[in-house]
Parts: sequence; structure tokens; C-alpha cells
Amino acid sequence: MQRYSHWIYGREFSSIADKWIDCENPFDRSIWAQVPAGTAQDADYAVDIAHAAMHSGPWSKMSATERGKILVRISELLLQETDALAQIEVRDNGKLLAEMRGQLGFSAELWRYYGGLADKIEGSVLPLEKQDMFGMTMRVPVGVVAAITAWNSPLTFLALKCAPALAAGCAVVVKPSEYSTASSLEFAKLTKKAGLPDGVLNVISGYGHEVGPSLVENPKVAMITFTGSDGTGARIYEAAARHMKRVTMELGGKSPNIVFEDADLDAAANGAISGIFGAAGQMCTAGSRLLVQNSIKDEFIDKIVRASRSVKVGNPMNADTQMGPISNKAQFDKVLEYIAIAHADGATCVAGGNALNNNVLNKGYFVEPTVFTDVTNDMRIAQEEVFGPILSIIGFDDEEEAINIGNDIAYGLAAGVWTRDIGRLLRVSKALEAGMVWGNTYRSYSYTMPTGGMKRSGIGREHGAEAINEFLETKSLMINISSTSGGSSFVPK
Ligand code: NAD
Repeated sequence: MQRYSHWIYGREFSSIADKWIDCENPFDRSIWAQVPAGTAQDADYAVDIAHAAMHSGPWSKMSATERGKILVRISELLLQETDALAQIEVRDNGKLLAEMRGQLGFSAELWRYYGGLADKIEGSVLPLEKQDMFGMTMRVPVGVVAAITAWNSPLTFLALKCAPALAAGCAVVVKPSEYSTASSLEFAKLTKKAGLPDGVLNVISGYGHEVGPSLVENPKVAMITFTGSDGTGARIYEAAARHMKRVTMELGGKSPNIVFEDADLDAAANGAISGIFGAAGQMCTAGSRLLVQNSIKDEFIDKIVRASRSVKVGNPMNADTQMGPISNKAQFDKVLEYIAIAHADGATCVAGGNALNNNVLNKGYFVEPTVFTDVTNDMRIAQEEVFGPILSIIGFDDEEEAINIGNDIAYGLAAGVWTRDIGRLLRVSKALEAGMVWGNTYRSYSYTMPTGGMKRSGIGREHGAEAINEFLETKSLMINISSTSGGSSFVPK
């Protein structure tokens, strides 16, 4: 069986401890590889290496244009390896091969995009009130960045964090989820082929509670960029605050997908189904609360129930499969627990509601596409993130009520609005407390459009030019240019 090592200083690096994490395929529960259960010392070593690479290695002396060219080469190599890397990701997280291929193509675009932005990071010359002074700003990299990521889309998260960080001139230590580390370790080898200097991108494998805190607490780490649950995010944010470190947080959601009576109902039903059963609901932006105007509710529920029952569940490697397994045992148990909670709280299950048990799928972590009606927004199934294929349908009478229900939640990641009335679409989008709103579509992404959460869904933005600012400090420089004296001008505060 294949055993992976950490990736530190441009090479494979064995963990100090001889401890291993099994890579389990959620489709059939087979163990297909092992990754190191790293230690705090491994993480400290990776940070030392990144720190040295950033402050004294070739990276620190490279022009922004050269940095950008390396990122573009990473993009090209990633495109060549898309198929092999996608298969690794599917073996680890059970998502559809077609989806992971698409995600890796998108990740390559991210590397290319940020490669192009590297030499467009500009300071400015500012007009000062004193004629004998010259004022300018420079944009400098924030420092060593620890990138801690979730299991559902490992190489997309890696690209979203590392491409802008490296474009800005930072060095990174990546800590992927213990459930899906292998693709990041394989990907790291490509960065060396692309000419990235040793030590600039390092990957540490291990359990979050074992290696995570040492990354977060290490004084040589200037910033933590995190994707994961809001609970872990809050713990990291607290620790980072003690050291006054910068953070970006891409956290969970419980997003409202709102369907008005004047919408194209077939399109809205498709959007609702793919918004919750895509990736078996294991998406931060899952449209897990479907808000439907009461005047069309029964008709719309019919469409949703029929579509849910026709979702083809199966082997994620097969081209005709529409929904794969839940990624791991802990998540599988959690999803089943939430189904029980929904029943106990009085919701009505109108589709699915069980683990899938048949000759082909009984070994894997499969749950049926599940739909609950008679849900009220105060129920746990409406308020808490499940991260699984469970849709809660809630009725509303008018625009105001839809907005109130949409916003009556701790999260603020995404939302969908389905209507043919453009005025309503804009009014509702403006009023919704969400970092991303989709109108007459759901889960559309572009590498140019910033994404991120409000409220408990996060801090900061990824994608787009805005994301690069997260990895930069602004430094101000004031120079006395008077021909008569070199003294400083004193302005009391
Ligand atoms: P998680 O919070 O359990 O783990 C995320 C990462 O944090 C993992 O790498 C884990 O090892 C690490 N970790 C755990 N404890 C740690 C600690 N004490 N210190 C440092 N690191 C620690 O999340 P998960 O189960 O892997 O992912 C699912 C969650 O991620 C869901 O809530 C989902 O909504 C969220 N998510 C958000 C986005 C987004 O962009 N907003 C995208 C995908 C997933």
C-alpha cells in the first residue's frame, strides 16, 4: 500500500513519529493509502523552512514577474495532471470524478489568474499637505501563511489560498484535512517541477488537533487562512487573536434558496436539487433551506420529490452517477443523526431518509437524497449545518417574510433567489445577509468574483483580485525632500 510523506523544503520528508492515518475510500471503505499522522515538531520544522525561504531564500529576491511566471507554470502542470489528481481526490472524499476534474480545471485557472496578478500589485504616491515631503505606499507580503483546509475540495482550497499568497510573495505551510491529504502531497511535487524554490510551499499531514495548534501558535506564522467548520474556525480565531495574527475564515453555512411564485419553476427545481444533492450536500454553500412561496408550495414540493427520487446514487467514478457517498464515517453518522433529529422535531420526511442499503452500495457511506417538509425555521434541521444531502422546505407568504426567514440564522454564506421580477431580485439580494447571492442560478463560480461569508460564515474574501489583499500589508514611506534641512516635521497628535 502506498505511504505518503510530508512535503517540506521541496522534498518528501518523513514524520518524526512513525504514526499513520488510513486513507479510506468512502465508496467501499477500502484503505487505499496512508498519510503521516504528523507531530507538532514536524509542523514547527515546516514553519522554520517556510520562514527561511521567505526571508533569505531565492523567493525573497525574485521579481514579482518571475513569481507570476512560476504560478502560471504550476497552472500548466496541474492541467496535465488533472486526471490523476482527480482520481486521488475521489478515492479520498467520494465526490464525483466529473466534478473533481472540473474543480481541478478551475484550480488551474486560479493559479494562472493569480500568476498574472503577481506583477500588478501596486503601491501609490500620495498627495501630502507639505510640499517638502514625499509620501508613497508599498504592498509587502504579510509573512508566512498557514493554510488549513477542509476535506471536500482539497486542491481547490489549496489554490484559493496558496495562489494569491505566493503571488503576494508569502511562503506557505498547508495543512489539508486528515480525510483528504494525498492530493495536496502529490500536487506539491508539481510545484517543484514548475520551478518554485524549495521551502516556499510545504504540506504537513496530520490530525487537526495535533498539528493545527502548533501552526496557529507558532510566532513565525503571520497569518492563518482557514476553510472548515465554524467551531474549529472560532478556536483558531481565538488563538490567533492572542498573537494578533491575521486570519481569513471560510466557514459553514445554512443557505436559503428562495423560490417566488413568478419564477421559472422547472429551472428553480433543478437549481434546488443540484444546490443540495450535488457533492451529496457536502458543500459550504449548499442550499439546504429551500424557501418556497406558499401559493406554489404544493406544486413545487411535487417537483422536488420526483426529482429527488430520480437522483442516480452510485460509484463516484462512473460518468452517469449523480450523487456519491458521504465522505467519511463521522460525517455519515452525523447526517443520519440529523435525520433522526428532524423527525423528532416534527418535520415530515417526503423523500429518502435512510442510509442506502443495497447489494452494490451497502459497503459505502451512502445516504438517500432526503427531503423534509413542515419545517419551521427554528428547528435544528433549519438552523444547524448538516453538510449532507438533506433538504428542508419552509413556506413563506411574501417578500418580507422570505427575507426575514432567510436572515434569521447565525450563518451568512450564500443565498439563491428565483424570480422573473428583476426589481424583486435586486431588492431581495440587497436585503439578504449573505456574502454571495445567486439570481436564477445556484452555485455558479468565477475566479474573478470574490466569495466569502458574513456573520458566522467567515471573515475575508477568496477568489478575484480582492483576495490578494488578504496576504499583503501596506507600508507607508515618507521622505523629506526639502533642499534645506534633513529634520523631521513634528505634528502633535
Ligand atoms: P473541520 O473544521 O473539522 O476541519 C477543517 C480543518 O481544520 C482540517 O484540516 C482539520 O484537521 C483542521 N483542524 C481541526 N482542529 C483543529 C485545531 N484545533 N487547530 C487547527 N486546525 C484544526 O471542517 P471539515 O469537517 O474538514 O469541513 C467541513 C466544514 O467546512 C463545513 O462546516 C463546511 O461548511 C466548511 N467549509 C467551508 C467552505 C467555505 O469556503 N466557506 C468550503 C468548504 C467547507
